[in-house]
Amino acid sequence: MDMKAFYSLSCGLYLVGAAHEGRDYGCVVNTVTQVTAEPAKLMVAINKENATTAAVLASGRFEAAVLCETAPMELIGTFGFKTSREVDKFAPFQTARDAHGVPYVTQDVAARFGCKVVDTLDAGTHMLIIGLVEEAEVLNTAAPMTYAYYHRVKNGLTPPKASSYQAQQEKKPGGWRCKVCGYIYEGETLPADYKCPICGQPASVFEKL
Ligand code: FE
Repeated sequence: MDMKAFYSLSCGLYLVGAAHEGRDYGCVVNTVTQVTAEPAKLMVAINKENATTAAVLASGRFEAAVLCETAPMELIGTFGFKTSREVDKFAPFQTARDAHGVPYVTQDVAARFGCKVVDTLDAGTHMLIIGLVEEAEVLNTAAPMTYAYYHRVKNGLTPPKASSYQAQQEKKPGGWRCKVCGYIYEGETLPADYKCPICGQPASVFEKL
């Protein structure tokens, strides 16, 4: 199998939000697809180990938001490389809640969809969750971020729990890269007490490029 074939599939960068028992959950996914128009339904593929997945399934609701190209790495890193079990991912950003109290980010988001879970399929590492869209809103006119843009322009990495993850990822010369989130430190010498500004990991997880 030529794994590069998978790079030709178009996907984007999306935030999934959920609320359960007084706590907010959120994570980044790269697979959100409209599956029907009448009624409008979306499908989300989301890793079973994510705290957000359990919250979506338990509460029966989720918000799916489409990130724009303007989204800073801090936003992507917080939702993609930290866990909702430990931090309130929504706190540092501009957010709102839908009619059912489910949180979503309003900054650097092209559009958001408030969904009720109507079907699920166990796909192994991931759950496919189908949501009936009950709210839809355009929030920003900036271009939606594609996964290709995230890799090429933002130097982003794919976390192991993403459905599109591949173990070997390309390296670019110069500086140091956080092996957890892909953040690039530009400089020859990485201070020993350095902490990744995106995912909070120590200097030991950085690799020389
Ligand atoms: Fe990092």
